[in-house]
Amino acid sequence: MDTHFDCLVIGSGYAGSVAAREMAERGGRRVLVLERRGHVGGNAYDCLDEHGILIHKYGPHIFHTSERRVFDYLSRFTGWRDYQHRVVANVHGRFLPVPFNLTSLHMAFPKEKAARLEDKLLSAYSANARVTILSLRENTDPELREVADYVYENVFVHYTMKQWGQTPEEIDPATTARVPVLLSRDDRYFQDPYQGMPLEGYTPLFQRMLDHPRITVELGVDARERMALEDGVIRLDGEPFAGPVIYTGEVDELFSFRFGHLPYRTLDFDFETLEVDRFQPTATVNYTVSEDYTRITEYKQLTGQVVPGRTTIMKEYSRAYTGSPGEIPYYAVISPENNALYGRYRDLAGGFSNLHLLGRLAEYKYYNMDAIALRALTLCDGILEQ
Ligand code: FAD
Ligand code: UDP
Repeated sequence: MDTHFDCLVIGSGYAGSVAAREMAERGGRRVLVLERRGHVGGNAYDCLDEHGILIHKYGPHIFHTSERRVFDYLSRFTGWRDYQHRVVANVHGRFLPVPFNLTSLHMAFPKEKAARLEDKLLSAYSANARVTILSLRENTDPELREVADYVYENVFVHYTMKQWGQTPEEIDPATTARVPVLLSRDDRYFQDPYQGMPLEGYTPLFQRMLDHPRITVELGVDARERMALEDGVIRLDGEPFAGPVIYTGEVDELFSFRFGHLPYRTLDFDFETLEVDRFQPTATVNYTVSEDYTRITEYKQLTGQVVPGRTTIMKEYSRAYTGSPGEIPYYAVISPENNALYGRYRDLAGGFSNLHLLGRLAEYKYYNMDAIALRALTLCDGILEQ
């Protein structure tokens, strides 16, 4: 085994795996990837459950992008199953398309009123407009305000309270803007031109990406046991390491929580296998007005796997991350105050000229898979141009 490395990557999710491949293949570097879990893929990891059903262990992942570069890059490591994600909200037993769109409008209001509201919406905004719930609520027309209040009450406020412990006004506006009111009858969750599920699942995609003669992956290794950061110098196994170090874990943890803990939300997943072919109308159903969980995902509908007679579903419960062993920080809680705390850690990292922070955790951002893959590609563009 090669024991001399000239690039160190911590973490093997999208950020770490794309960066490792780029540094090895395009940059000709010998790359060591340290991953503390027993598998690659980070939160996109999937595997068969004990009933033979392909599940996403850390929550449902649907690939979608408008970035041709990312789609072409990942397509080197996987084929795709055509899949367009559709979500409905369970509103007192009725299934309303989410994002709330013109079809939802006609389900929510009586026929003539809905037709009038549709006309009003289309003249106030425009066909196919994506209107955030917060901006719709600022509309002064009393009838449009009524639509806004309906959507706020039946789609956003309770779900957001469950997911974040805060109201839509209290959280980062970019978060609810991810799911706008859509002035069209397009009932897909995403409108990106490239969408799909990796043909054999996410884990094989990562395995292929990391399968390169200049990449060594060590699983079950917490980088903090091998790495030390002091006086602008990064040490690996006690020796100064001068090559690029691409770190994709939590930045507060990297610096031993010197300035305190960055807040995150964690999730508890409740998996259940039922003896039916199909459980619910769409792969994901959001519970926007009732229940303690936010949503239920039925995996066979996502992956297209054919298994007659049984199906695995998963409920998601969100709560504050406490840092206890085994808990995973899934979502950065983005706010001006938390961003300022993050900034202090980023400044500390800036004292190490070969350290690069990359990913949802290390950058304390709400990246989708495609966005972090693109960030990894452009970070490596920059490193390799130097
Ligand atoms: P991660 O996937 O978190 O990978 C970081 C890796 O670093 C982990 O494997 C971790 O074990 C490792 N690590 C951390 N610290 C250390 C250390 N000290 N030593 C060694 N290893 C370490 N995006 C979409 O595009 N579509 C979706 O449908 C979608 N659904 C999602 C659903 C949920 C519930 C969640 C939480 C996220 C979802 N995402 C989705 C976002 C997606 O998960 C992220 O964009 C992606 O995982 C980010 O990759 P990453 O490499 O930055 O982080
Ligand atoms: N959201 C909501 N109701 C829904 C769907 C989304 O209130 O039915 C809000 C909620 O605040 C959520 C945010 O919109 O956190 C972003 O939703 P998205 O589905 O993009 O979150 P993801 O699960 O992908 O992180």
